[in-house]
Amino acid sequence: MIIGHKKQWQFLKKTAELGKIPHAFLFLGPSQLGKRTFALELIKLINCEKKDFSIRPCLDCQNCQSFKKGIHPDFFFIEPIEKDIQISQIRKLRSFLSLKSQIAQYKAVIIDRAHLLNKQSQNSVLKILEEPKGKTILILVTEHPEMLFPTIISRVEKIKFFPVPKPEIEKYLKSQKASKKDLEIISHLSWGKPGRAIDFLRDPSKKEFQEKTIKEISKLVKANLNFKFQYAKKMAGQPQNLKEILEIWLRYFRGVLLLKIKETTYHGDSNVKSLPSYSVSKLKEILKLIQSTSFLVSTTNVNPKLALEILMLEL
Ligand SMILES: [Zn+2]
Repeated sequence: MIIGHKKQWQFLKKTAELGKIPHAFLFLGPSQLGKRTFALELIKLINCEKKDFSIRPCLDCQNCQSFKKGIHPDFFFIEPIEKDIQISQIRKLRSFLSLKSQIAQYKAVIIDRAHLLNKQSQNSVLKILEEPKGKTILILVTEHPEMLFPTIISRVEKIKFFPVPKPEIEKYLKSQKASKKDLEIISHLSWGKPGRAIDFLRDPSKKEFQEKTIKEISKLVKANLNFKFQYAKKMAGQPQNLKEILEIWLRYFRGVLLLKIKETTYHGDSNVKSLPSYSVSKLKEILKLIQSTSFLVSTTNVNPKLALEILMLEL
């Protein structure tokens, strides 16, 4: 199910109907927007056996069914092993592409978090893009396109994804029979990211985690360095939550910055008094550092404790 992204969907549906689907796409935009889900839906759409495009994907033809069950023989999915998409994975992809399709019109590939393709793998993907074979569709999904070779970028059709308007998220939550209270809280906390809304709905502890993290930040900005370093150590000890924590931080400091700017323009906003006393330029520096820390810990093997300590020194 796609939540939001209507323009992209209509555009690609039209392209598919005209039979003009390119060999390769790059789906780019922030994490948790539903890019991978969208890619899968597009693949279902172009392979659905129904002649009438308006009812595709139909969900009950052989192709739709095989996708639904996750056993489609002409579909290949790649995602990083830890922080790397390795050459051995791309070799398997190449041998998959050399086979004839079994039931689908288009053989299809999704490479998720494609920015984690290492150099050797990127070279190999480039070769695939340079010599497309038969009816295939390859979709690279990424939040960091700047990490891909420009030669790859120039060979793919780029589709940009943006945060989804709140009413779209609310519509989804209603369809899932969320309570009125959940509807309000979750649509607010998801920041236009359908993936977050789904997570919050499935696992209520994620909401509490977000609220707890915000409380911790407001405590942290007033604390001494010793306390901050202890906190860095604690954060580094939960690598699976690190990206999420830093994303919450980013939102928090962006919110503080917006309120500060508003105050400089309008003067005397009562909210501002309770906020940490950073200047606008300092807040911008902090935001940059949170972004680069998040990038480093999620894409490289940097020592997370060290990276976090550097961040703490700036707070
Ligand atoms: Zn179908």
